[in-house]
Amino acid sequence: MLKYLVILLDDSAVSYCHYESGKERKLISLEALKSAILFAMKENLNVHIVWPDYELPKDYKEIINGIDHINFADASFAHDADILVANPLDWDNIPEKSVVVVKTGIRDFIEKPEVFLPLLKRVARLNILFEDISVFKDEMVTGFSYALDFLTDAIIEQYKKQNKVQVNILTDRLILDQMNNCNAGDESVTLAPDGQFYVCPAFYFGGEKSVGNPNEGVHIKNSQLFRLDHAPICRNCDAYQCNRCVWLNKQQTLEVNTPGHEQCVICHLERNASKRMLDKIREIGEFLPGKEIPDIDYLDPFEKIEK
Ligand code: SF4
Ligand code: SF4
Repeated sequence: MLKYLVILLDDSAVSYCHYESGKERKLISLEALKSAILFAMKENLNVHIVWPDYELPKDYKEIINGIDHINFADASFAHDADILVANPLDWDNIPEKSVVVVKTGIRDFIEKPEVFLPLLKRVARLNILFEDISVFKDEMVTGFSYALDFLTDAIIEQYKKQNKVQVNILTDRLILDQMNNCNAGDESVTLAPDGQFYVCPAFYFGGEKSVGNPNEGVHIKNSQLFRLDHAPICRNCDAYQCNRCVWLNKQQTLEVNTPGHEQCVICHLERNASKRMLDKIREIGEFLPGKEIPDIDYLDPFEKIEK
């Protein structure tokens, strides 16, 4: 069931996920924006507005402010947005207790996990997003796990100071008891600057067909394939923090409901690091009593199914 509408205001709007935004500006038309807001009101959808890094005309802002919404923006442009997308050059200016998305490469993360330390001290939540999951190789398992453990120790140091910072790839699995995926194509769609709906921004920038528009509604072919209950590998998985990115699935396996090996291994390494984190936190006091993350002997659930 649809719950969220993402509105990309411009082709150059900040990228907060596994895709590259357009290089050129292409602002959504005022009419398309109005239609989308009306659609969201009628369907009772939560609206996420994704901003470019330039000032929009006043009439655009008035329409946007006519509905409750969450703002995504580049941290160097709008420090007051709800979700800030940042890079290391911006970090000195990030407001205290922000929610911040940082996109990074896998190799950079393995080689320099310490770049995140200043953020742990000041933000409420850090979402680390790997922008090149397909480059992950099995020989990176040890280095990736080491980087996760390095961050775990830094987070625990913050906990000792009563700073309960959240980091998606490590702390989310501690509290989740079921999947908390992106669910694009099932719970959310994106309105692109061309006035059409797409499964998510990655499908728009990747040249996929639109799946409707605010006047005709959302029409996703084989829409059941975007649901967890039609994802045979994912529905038997307990890496609950995984995005279960249907765009990456399509890129890697040509099926939106079948994940590639790399996405699964990365998310299981995170899951296992969360288990180690839980054990370490309990050394300093009672934490989530009754919560356990079981031992597993695989990093890709496909191996479990094969067995
Ligand atoms: S780790 Fe793999 S199997 Fe598990 S939810 Fe993510 S993509 Fe699906
Ligand atoms: S499917 Fe979800 S996780 Fe993947 S790129 Fe789109 S919005 Fe991001």
